[in-house]
Amino acid sequence: MNHPMKASPSIRADFDFKNFTFGIQATDHMLTAAYRNGMWQDYEILPFGNLSINPLSMALHYGQTVFEGLKAYRMEDGAVNIFRLSDHHDRINRSLYRMAMPALPKDLFVGGMEALIRTEESWIINDPDYSLYIRPCVIATEARLGVDASEEYLFMILLSPMRSYYSKNLKVKVETDFIRAAKGGTGAAKNGGNYGATLLPQRLAKEAGFDQIIWLDATERRFIEESGTMNLMVILDGLSLITPPAGETVLKGITRDSILKLAPSIGLEVNEAPIEIADLMQWIEAGRDVEVFGVGTAAIISPIESISYQGNLAYPNTRPDSKMAQLKALLQSIRRGTHGDRFGWNHLV
Ligand SMILES: *Cc1c(COP(=O)(O)O)cnc(C)c1O
Repeated sequence: MNHPMKASPSIRADFDFKNFTFGIQATDHMLTAAYRNGMWQDYEILPFGNLSINPLSMALHYGQTVFEGLKAYRMEDGAVNIFRLSDHHDRINRSLYRMAMPALPKDLFVGGMEALIRTEESWIINDPDYSLYIRPCVIATEARLGVDASEEYLFMILLSPMRSYYSKNLKVKVETDFIRAAKGGTGAAKNGGNYGATLLPQRLAKEAGFDQIIWLDATERRFIEESGTMNLMVILDGLSLITPPAGETVLKGITRDSILKLAPSIGLEVNEAPIEIADLMQWIEAGRDVEVFGVGTAAIISPIESISYQGNLAYPNTRPDSKMAQLKALLQSIRRGTHGDRFGWNHLV
């Protein structure tokens, strides 16, 4: 069960690294491991291909799924680096716990990923604007319609090439009806359902001419939480970086953590504190120097160029000499190995 079918011979040989769309092309191989009889079985590295699963599999009905997103980079000296691998391992285990799913041991998550990345090393070209996106995920595969935690799971690691062009500046709408996460809910976990629930609000925002949403707190619709599926940060007067505290409703982003640790080195004071949307609008309207941006593994930093809230539009600073651009460059140089890795984030394979 669960074995992918045979895939075609190497896709790598014909892949156009200059011109591709993210997320539709997987690499030649994938990793799979099954959980049954209370244990994770050994992993296998197989040609990428379709799965065959029972239609009664619980993941398909009740959304017992969890995922991660991280990246492997080629460093300037040619080494391969999986950025903050052990932090992603810790986080997937927290997400799995929340979804009543079994934890992934280190030799499976870390060891399996290292082995897969070594197999697919030729997909990691030496180009500062390129990375290999890594998508680990776990799905419930027990075939049973009873509403209960599954007793069987499938763990997979899938890889997809990614190019990080300068991310386009975003026009965002502050969402005052829908919410992303509530206290006591699953907002702190990376489970599929959290994303499914944002698709309609996201589509409505797109239809109204926006790129993205800013989520407010579920209780009062007063405090900023996240932007789309990124954490949100504000740099005020070029001096202080403010971001909402991570916890039950604000996901503990690893990019968020990296930026918070790097900010003092470019002279920013860091403040993890609630931000009222009304205050943010007022700071911008009063002409203060305000940078607003989303942070996450996929785009690293996405500058926000306009914010729409209750019929008002505000335009944060998106000048090229912004502090956010400095932070992005610093993070990039750590990954590439051209700046010291003071926090031990680079996991060399
Ligand atoms: C994954 C995710 C983020 C970003 O986390 P990173 O570890 O920085 O990629 C932020 N918010 C939500 C809701 C997420 O799912």
